[in-house]
Amino acid sequence: MDVNTPLRELPGVGEARAKGLEKLGLRVAGDLVGYFPRSYEDRRQVYTIAEAPVGELCCVRVMAAEEPRRMHIRKGLDVTRLKVVDGASAMLVTFFNQGYVRQALHRGEEYILYGRVELMGSHRQMTNPQFEGAERPWACGRIMPVYPLTAGITNHLLAGLVERAIQELPPPAETLPDDLLARHRLSPAADCWRSIHFPADEAALDAARRRFAFEELFYLSLGLALLRERRSRGHGPAFGETDLEGFYQLLPFTLTGAQKRALEESAADLALTRPMNRLVQGDVGSGKTAVAAGCAWLAVRSGWQCAMMAPTEILAEQHAKTLSAMLAPAGIQVGLLTGSMKVSEKRKVLAALETGALPFVVGTHALLSQGVAFRRLGLVITDEQHRFGVEQRAALAAKAGGEEDFSPNVLVMSATPIPRTLALIIYGDLDVSVIDELPPGRVPVKTVLVGESKRQRMYGFVRDQVKEGRQVYIVCPAVEENPEGAWDLKAVTEYARVLGEQVFPDLRVGLVHGRMKAKEKEAAMAAFTAGETHILVSTTVIEVGVDVPNASLIIIENADRYGLSQLHQLRGRVGRGKHQSWCVLVSDNRSPDTRARLKVLTQTNDGFKIAEEDLKLRGPGDFFGQRQHGLPALRVADLETDTRVLKEAQDAAAEVLAADPALTRPEHRPLLEKVRRLFEEDPDRFN
Ligand code: ADP
Ligand code: MG
Repeated sequence: MDVNTPLRELPGVGEARAKGLEKLGLRVAGDLVGYFPRSYEDRRQVYTIAEAPVGELCCVRVMAAEEPRRMHIRKGLDVTRLKVVDGASAMLVTFFNQGYVRQALHRGEEYILYGRVELMGSHRQMTNPQFEGAERPWACGRIMPVYPLTAGITNHLLAGLVERAIQELPPPAETLPDDLLARHRLSPAADCWRSIHFPADEAALDAARRRFAFEELFYLSLGLALLRERRSRGHGPAFGETDLEGFYQLLPFTLTGAQKRALEESAADLALTRPMNRLVQGDVGSGKTAVAAGCAWLAVRSGWQCAMMAPTEILAEQHAKTLSAMLAPAGIQVGLLTGSMKVSEKRKVLAALETGALPFVVGTHALLSQGVAFRRLGLVITDEQHRFGVEQRAALAAKAGGEEDFSPNVLVMSATPIPRTLALIIYGDLDVSVIDELPPGRVPVKTVLVGESKRQRMYGFVRDQVKEGRQVYIVCPAVEENPEGAWDLKAVTEYARVLGEQVFPDLRVGLVHGRMKAKEKEAAMAAFTAGETHILVSTTVIEVGVDVPNASLIIIENADRYGLSQLHQLRGRVGRGKHQSWCVLVSDNRSPDTRARLKVLTQTNDGFKIAEEDLKLRGPGDFFGQRQHGLPALRVADLETDTRVLKEAQDAAAEVLAADPALTRPEHRPLLEKVRRLFEEDPDRFN
């Protein structure tokens, strides 16, 4: 075997398994070594029957006292049983639907079983243990890796393949410079490959984990630092207009202290020739749009164009409307660009952007398409940043064109409050302003969790709210979203029909979902915004940013299907005006975990706390798993527990860059190449 041997050629693999392995990203033998375990099982201790700790996974050495007996219980269920003994005790071992055991286990032979020993009265027993011959055990008597798997691939198979690869292949080349290894007391890669898969003991595992975690975080930090460094070296448009008084006059309200601070911090950046790269982070409803509008105002007043990108068409349209209304009195025209606009309309906007006649455009991803060109793009704003990757942000900025090293000012807005360590990583290349204050007069949203039994009362409450002149959102899962569970989901179209025809025949019920045509979506939103529809049935397309201050009640069906942060976002659709607002979470899910999770929302409105709970429940691995942000995935490092390694890795990256800011020295060439591969992107960005 060599690193390029296709896995299907290895003994025990074959076509079908090779397909399964490919799903895990494993194609050739060389891939195996880099496929890291998810966790480990400590099988070092081998117990006697009497000493085995009850209820815990462990190895037990036994002898088969009889040939296994197979019994057919009923269709689809058969049971194979045998008595096993050691010098002092005996126990019964039962296998369900594993008839092959009869051929595999034989009277008088010794085996090591791995599983849980249970107590049945005073007797011990095991059910469905793994087993192997005691003569030359492979999986028992050591720490075994547990790998992420897929259908048709067992952990045994994978562990076996990995072990062979480690034995037969030359160790992969070292990927960290020697002096770094020495300075941070990291084990060389050659020593760690084996230990990360088959550690001899805890110390060896810790050393290997620390080394690989360091490596991941080092390259991540290096990549982000390079991005930041490159930007700060570049030059951007310095806005001549710095006075915000004129903008304040346009607003129908006075900015909160926090909004003002965020805007003034941005304005200070915008006046410099160094391009701004700022994140404005603020909970839902904290008024981020006004800060963006202020920046756009400065851009346009200074003779530059501004582009603002939103993650959904609904949000883009809403922003275009509000901003247009706000800025029109100052003679600033705001255009809209979305994928589903008529070609003729699009063409008009594109032409106006290219000539510079249109100073401000709001749009969706459509802004990134090829045909979009600006005359003088000076400011790029992305709303709800967590929806966009580093890549997309950069792609829009690249539209500014111009000379080398020129980049426009960038403002990103996010309502996703992420804990500090994580923010440091994800937004490591940005300056941050936090809006930690809500506009005055906001009444906190009251949240309740109800089951199906309360449905009629809940509909009564909807009626009460409408009678008082308020409006209501009802959110339910998308049509055909989940084919298996579809029967119990409130498919949105059908649900809206039933509500409109049977439950509220006297009220106007609107509907909006992601599969509707843009025109229909727009019409449905416009009718709701104008107060023409009382109830808007919707999927989560209203999750981000939608702003209808008269809406005072949001009902979320099947609430258990959403993450906490998403529910918090949805809840943020109400409580945006001066009325007492309500959020009703509907769920009949009785699982204590689920109820505890949903209870968090009934107890706090603090987005930061909720995000932390969410992170605790889902883990940062998952956060990174989604890879929405365009950063390399972390396989070993855990941002919550590896904070010390993170700090070390960041310092190490800073040191390397201090000596060689663009990694141009020959000895740093491999570092640069590795960063490029990791960030998987156009190599020019790290020039
Ligand atoms: P988000 O931060 O969630 O994007 P928005 O910018 O949509 O919040 O603002 C939420 C609502 O609050 C909007 O209706 C907006 O007009 C209003 N608003 C924003 N700032 C203020 C303020 N300083 N005083 C009163 N209302 C405000
Ligand atoms: Mg917003």
